[in-house]
Amino acid sequence: MASNLILMAGPCAVESEEQISRIADSIKSVGVDYLRGGAFKPRTSAGDWTGHGEKALKWMRAVGDKLELKIVTEIMDAGDIKMFQDYGVDLYQVGARNAQNQSLLFALGDAKVPVLLKNGMNSSLTEWLGSAGKAGDENSVMLCVRGKNNETDIARNGQDITALVHLVDNTPYKIIFDPSHITGKRELVYGVTMGAVATGVDGIIVEVHHDPIAAKTDGRQSITPKQLECLVKAANIQRQVYLDNIGLREGFSSSEIPMHVDIYFRESDLTNISDLITELTPKKYSSEKTGILTARIPTGALGVFRQRGYAIGEVVKYAPKEGKSSAEAIHITMPAGEKIKLTPFSLEALQFRGRETDVNFHGARVELAHGFAGQVIRDAYLTVDMNKVPSLSGAPLILYNVVKG
Ligand code: PEP
Ligand code: MN
Repeated sequence: MASNLILMAGPCAVESEEQISRIADSIKSVGVDYLRGGAFKPRTSAGDWTGHGEKALKWMRAVGDKLELKIVTEIMDAGDIKMFQDYGVDLYQVGARNAQNQSLLFALGDAKVPVLLKNGMNSSLTEWLGSAGKAGDENSVMLCVRGKNNETDIARNGQDITALVHLVDNTPYKIIFDPSHITGKRELVYGVTMGAVATGVDGIIVEVHHDPIAAKTDGRQSITPKQLECLVKAANIQRQVYLDNIGLREGFSSSEIPMHVDIYFRESDLTNISDLITELTPKKYSSEKTGILTARIPTGALGVFRQRGYAIGEVVKYAPKEGKSSAEAIHITMPAGEKIKLTPFSLEALQFRGRETDVNFHGARVELAHGFAGQVIRDAYLTVDMNKVPSLSGAPLILYNVVKG
């Protein structure tokens, strides 16, 4: 992870040579890396102004070279890639409206150019990542979060913070946050930017205009150079706080709780909960060898079975004494909360093997054969059937095994 925030700023649209160079000066002075500006503008209505096109690329390149700023601008047509390459565009923005344009995405991937891919107006994460894979890989593609087109009475687009955290934590791409198109209002840009930086985004892209009131496009959300100065200062401080506390974040992430558990149950115990199982997972299978059904469910869902009067038993590796070979055991929590243990060997079996027999187990000691996991589970059920554990008789039983990894 880069330690510095990647900073991109500039007008929504390149309006004139004078405008872009004036804004470029102000963003350079606060340490921005990329000058943004639309040369080819996608617009909502036919007849709207669509930008200065190639002329604007030329102005951007010139000012970029002069001030040592990289340039990022939107490409809408695969046929323009050559022109963008001629002007040395450093980052090819794919906008919300073209986020699923197959031919454009594949052409950018083939050209091996750096891409800033916005999320589609209403695309799912799967669709967005699918598009990213077409345009390149995590070394060449950055994702730009610009909000979903669900205009509320507050924001132009809006961004779900849960989705943002998920994206930052679970995708290999660099995440660039666009507070301008998310909010649509300059007064909201500061606050949402701070929140996003706290989640660990890699960078921000912000619309800036020296005269937002008269901007040709997106003036309502454009901030002034003075506001940008405050924003960049605050964002960098917030970034440092994030980095200083990375240890806490990692500590939190290294939770030992697995994502899934496999649960085992007898067909006869299933009758009252079969709908519940189907709700938790469509996947379950039954083993002819053991007569036991198995399903994989998300961690944290087991408690509902206890509420329904089930005893819950965890299959654990059990080592009677340090240094002695381990065996499988079942730890059962009864619906009322008391715990019992089933261990793999009977007293007789332990004695036969010359093992110590004075280990003080709570509850009953019952015989379970050594063998494959399914067999231990089957034997546990047989034991229960045989009522060797009086406190268990009557309570339906679910056994579970944590799924590692
Ligand atoms: C833009 O960046 O100015 C733009 C048109 O954004 P989006 O594609 O997110 O609407
Ligand atoms: Mn814009």
